[in-house]
Amino acid sequence: TKSTSSNFIKNIVSDDLQSGKVKEIVTRFPPEPNGYLHIGHAKSICLNFELADEYKGKTNLRFDDTNPVKEDTEYVESIKADVKWLGFEWDNLLFASDYFDEMYARAVLLIKKGKAFVCDLTAEEMRAYRGTLTEPGKNSPYRDRSVEENLDLFTRMRNGEFGNGEKVLRAKIDMGSPNINLRDPIIYRISHTEHHNTGNKWCIYPMYAFAHPLEDAIEGVTHSICTLEFEDQRPLYDWVVAECEMEHVPHQYEFARLNLTNTIMSKRYLKQLVDEGHVVGWDDPRMPTISGLRRRGYTPESIREFCRSIGVARSNGEVDSRQLDFFIREDLKLKAPRTMAVVRPLKVIITNYPEGQVEMLEAENNVENPDMGSRQIPFSREIYIEQDDFMEVPPAKYHRLYPGNEVRLKNAYFITCNDVIKDADGNVVELHCTYDPETKSGSGFTGRKVKGTIHWVEATQARPAEFRLYEPLILPEEERTGETFIENLNPNSVEIVNGFVEANMSEAKGQDKFQFFRHGYFNVDPKDTTPEKLAFNLIVSLKSSFDI
Ligand code: ATP
Ligand code: MG
Ligand code: MG
Repeated sequence: TKSTSSNFIKNIVSDDLQSGKVKEIVTRFPPEPNGYLHIGHAKSICLNFELADEYKGKTNLRFDDTNPVKEDTEYVESIKADVKWLGFEWDNLLFASDYFDEMYARAVLLIKKGKAFVCDLTAEEMRAYRGTLTEPGKNSPYRDRSVEENLDLFTRMRNGEFGNGEKVLRAKIDMGSPNINLRDPIIYRISHTEHHNTGNKWCIYPMYAFAHPLEDAIEGVTHSICTLEFEDQRPLYDWVVAECEMEHVPHQYEFARLNLTNTIMSKRYLKQLVDEGHVVGWDDPRMPTISGLRRRGYTPESIREFCRSIGVARSNGEVDSRQLDFFIREDLKLKAPRTMAVVRPLKVIITNYPEGQVEMLEAENNVENPDMGSRQIPFSREIYIEQDDFMEVPPAKYHRLYPGNEVRLKNAYFITCNDVIKDADGNVVELHCTYDPETKSGSGFTGRKVKGTIHWVEATQARPAEFRLYEPLILPEEERTGETFIENLNPNSVEIVNGFVEANMSEAKGQDKFQFFRHGYFNVDPKDTTPEKLAFNLIVSLKSSFDI
């Protein structure tokens, strides 16, 4: 694997190895299985796995499944598939819920040490007692319960004697701390909910702030990397590890989360898009999910290179979403065959070409990569060209087809437009052209030059295809008028048009990628492609409005 450029976390790891503070590094990627992974997660995945790769350590995939309400095995499966697809292999596949017994035991230990108590305050009361940034909190009236009473109540909580929200277990730290996270945080709550892994064994579940440090400690994680919002929780993280007397002491490091312009990156909102039907699913090609990006046609290489390029920082910023497009173009430039597709077809009859005759012409597969060889494409009396490659009344400097003008058909002949056939409403439905056999591509013809080259496909053998042309799901900032992100969805985020691709594309399979001459890079949709009709997702256009 490629080594990543230096960053502050790498420096820490390398110092810790050199000083002997750790012998081997262990990282983890800890998703909560409450949705599909998105491009932001990819940054964390790359960081954790590449760090361990580079320093010959280990990375665990650990499901942080301590909140039964929102979690589901569908999400577990999708997350595993996405991490693998990105190109990473975990050393251990782990579930935080497998540690519920141990977590419970550690909570009991805290109670016995007088470091945790059962509290009966309502959520509302607890908020009032917590204080504010400028005002210290007040001790709960239940804070001084005896160890025996706390043990008894906690056991009864576990046994299901109380309803949701009736009681919680809180760490006893310091209601006067300037860090609100240390003001006797809740560490266990009651939730009579079936869990995807533990079923109905538990009706109390540990809170993230208590569970996460224990998970890291149990697994021997050395460098627990999380996003900056958790910086204020680090003292609590250290408190939990110390007071629970964990043998292994992990350390938390924070980095800036990835934010992309014009992109929603919160599972809650992505789920809303799915649930309300604004997209076809988590893997809708417009979604910034890993599964959406995959279906759109992004490659693991392009996503990994993107993540490397944005680096790892300690301050939050926003990355231009078009930066990802740069990397997919780079990746596909030499890999994707370049073929012809007519997205909005206009029939052309070559009137002087013999009826019934089909000849095969040679076309290179990738001019920038001669190793990809060439293919044979049919040519005959009937072809399709792009509707907007013809104008009846051309503006100045229009070099494509118009009455009386001659253009080059890519890989074929020069043709001249003679007649324009229209329907009753005056729409152009067909062109009649003549070709010049002397001008055959590759023949070395130099008799005259034409200014325009257009693409085409032979009509009788062309394969019907559906093209999905995408724009960002969210309107650009300057066009937003709504208050919620739903109101600011781009009404034109997908346009579906029907056209044709070359005959030889009947072999194309889901996830195959092509560069369609003059159009851009496309991916064969793995779900909607049928034997009758190929479906292509626009990955990116050829040109970028953005350079890095
Ligand atoms: P969301 O807010 O989208 O639900 P999350 O942080 O709750 O995300 P988790 O499943 O808890 O999602 O995240 C797993 C890991 O991915 C965490 O370590 C988290 O810090 C990291 N992560 C999530 N979003 C980003 C992001 N935008 N950039 C970098 N890392 C991220
Ligand atoms: Mg989270
Ligand atoms: Mg979340």
